[in-house]
Amino acid sequence: MFFFELVLIFFFALFLSFLASFFNVVIFRTAKEESFVKGRSKCESCHQQIAWYDNVPLLSFLLLRGKCRHCHKKIARIYFLSELLAFVLGLTFAVAYLQLPSLQLLPIQQLMLYFLFTFVLLFALLADLQYLIVPDFFVALLIILAVLAQLFSGENWLLPILAVLFSSVFFYALYFSASKILHKPALGFGDIKLMIPLAFLLSWPKVILSIFLAFIIGGIFAMLLLLTGKKKIGQALPFAPFLIVAFLITFVFGEAIWQWYFGFLF
Ligand SMILES: [Zn+2]
Repeated sequence: MFFFELVLIFFFALFLSFLASFFNVVIFRTAKEESFVKGRSKCESCHQQIAWYDNVPLLSFLLLRGKCRHCHKKIARIYFLSELLAFVLGLTFAVAYLQLPSLQLLPIQQLMLYFLFTFVLLFALLADLQYLIVPDFFVALLIILAVLAQLFSGENWLLPILAVLFSSVFFYALYFSASKILHKPALGFGDIKLMIPLAFLLSWPKVILSIFLAFIIGGIFAMLLLLTGKKKIGQALPFAPFLIVAFLITFVFGEAIWQWYFGFLF
């Protein structure tokens, strides 16, 4: 690899860790119902403003040994870990692209959009696991990325739109009937919103496979939690993680699963 390429890869990975740092702010402030555009970051314990040099992704955490400069309380490790994950993902993606000719068959813009989509999705997952919310900011970002990927692909718009309509009607009907029967929401409205960009990118008919998989994986997981006594019937379970995992499986292996399944039938 040339020196220039190495520098480029490094800055790409660094950019992603800055993005991760910003996404963590989005998650935290959305959960606390604060604006993430205004106001500097503060320590969660002593509420002192964090100086820019204490807010550099990865480095600051290491230099401060994971503690606040003022009150010496521990900084949540998830910030450092997610920034590190972002950095490693950036490195892996860039090196894989340069080394694997099969990846270079796809136009770089489209590949980059898919990568960024997955990247934002990862933080949506993190938000849901931490606070049981999916920030609207992430959903909006995902919709923009999915539409851009569609623009670059040059394919028909009818099927992605059909997929979005199908999943919206399906989940809305489920949401409505579940709250009628159970007298409380069994499904978050955030999940329905999250399905919009996912369905759009998967397009028709893969969206059906993805929803089907989400229920299978979610069902198995819920059963395990009930059997091990970690949850009781009627307790809320975040559904977004299953939607996301099912999306990723379908996005990567959808074609293969589809063929395998129909090879089975006929
Ligand atoms: Zn502090």
